[in-house]
Amino acid sequence: MPATILDGNKIAADIRAEVAAEVKALSGAGIRPGLAVVLVGNHPASEIYVRGKVKSSEEVGLYSEKHTPSEHATTEALLELIGELNRRDEIDGILVQLPLPRQVDAKKVLLAVDPSKDVDGFHPMNVGFLSTQRPGLVPCTPSGIMELIDRSGIRVAGQEAVVVGRSDIVGKPMAMLLVNANATVTICHSKTRDLAGVSRRADILVAAIGRAGMITPDFVKPGATVIDVGMNRVTDAAEFERLFRGNRQRQETFRAKGSVLVGDVHPEAAKIAGAITPVPGGVGPLTIAMLMSNTLRAAKMRRGNRVAELSKV
Ligand code: NAP
Repeated sequence: MPATILDGNKIAADIRAEVAAEVKALSGAGIRPGLAVVLVGNHPASEIYVRGKVKSSEEVGLYSEKHTPSEHATTEALLELIGELNRRDEIDGILVQLPLPRQVDAKKVLLAVDPSKDVDGFHPMNVGFLSTQRPGLVPCTPSGIMELIDRSGIRVAGQEAVVVGRSDIVGKPMAMLLVNANATVTICHSKTRDLAGVSRRADILVAAIGRAGMITPDFVKPGATVIDVGMNRVTDAAEFERLFRGNRQRQETFRAKGSVLVGDVHPEAAKIAGAITPVPGGVGPLTIAMLMSNTLRAAKMRRGNRVAELSKV
C-alpha cells in the first residue's frame, strides 16, 4: 500500500489561520506583534526566503519590517542594529537571515539577539530551555515537524525515532523535541556506522542531511513515518534519472526548468513507508508558519501581563 502523504501545505495553512485569529484578538487589546527581519547583502536564495517571511507576516496580520545592511556590513554595525531592535518594544521577534557574509562573526551576532525576541530559537538560552523543558522559543523547522506529526495523529511516545543530521538548526533540536515527547531517539551523522541499519530501526525517521535522495528504500522500516527535511536542487541529468526515472510529471518540470527540487529521501521510499512528507509541500511550508507562531508566542511571553490587563478592560 502506498504511503499516506503528509500534507505540509494544509497543516501550515491551519497554523497560519490560528495565528491570524489570535493576532486579531490581540489587536482588540491594542497589541500588534512585530517581526524584524535582517537580510545582509544580496544572497538570491535568502532574498526569496525573506520575501516569503515578510509576505506571510502581512497575511496573518503581524507588523513586519525588513532591514537590509550591505554585504560589506561589519559585525559592529550589525550588533548596533540588533541592539536597537532589542530595545524597541513594538518589535517582538528578530530574525537574522543566514548565511551572513564571511567578514561577519555570525555567532556573535546571533548571541546578541535578546532571547525573548529570538524567534529562530538559536540563542543558547533558548537551546537550554528546550533541553530542560522550560517555556522558550524553539527552532521553526523542528517545531513545525512536531506539529505535523501531532496533527497527523502519529504516535511518538515509546516509538523508536532516528534523526539523520545533527545541525543546531534542525537535527539537534529535532532530537530534543522527540525525546521530550517520550520517543527513544538515535541521532546519526556522517560518522555513523551502518546508517541504513540504524535508520531501519526507526518508527519515525527524520532526514535532515542535505543530500538528494540519500535515504533509499533499504533505509526504511516498512510502515515507518518518514519526514524529509532536505531541500536539494538537482540539475544533473544522470542524478535526475536515478531519482525520478519514469516519473512523467517530474520529467516535464526538469525539461522545462532544467532542475527539480528533491528531498533527502529517495522517492521510491514512499513504497515502503507508512506515511511520508513530500518535497516540495511537506516540511518547507511549516517552517514559515512556525515563524509566525513563534512571533506571536514571543509577543505573548514578552507582553503577557499587559495582554492580561488589557483584555480585562
Ligand atoms: P547541515 O548543517 O549541513 O547538516 C547536515 C547534517 O547531515 C550534518 O549533521 C552531517 O553530519 C549530516 N550528514 C551529511 N552527510 C551525511 C552522510 N553521508 N551520512 C550521514 N549524515 C550525513 O544541514 P541542515 O541545515 O541541518 O539542513 C539539512 C537539509 O535540510 C538541507 O537540505 C537544508 O536545505 C534542509 N532544510 C530545510 C528546511 C525547510 O524548511 N524545509 C529548513 C532547514 C534546512 P556531520 O555533522 O557529521 O557533518
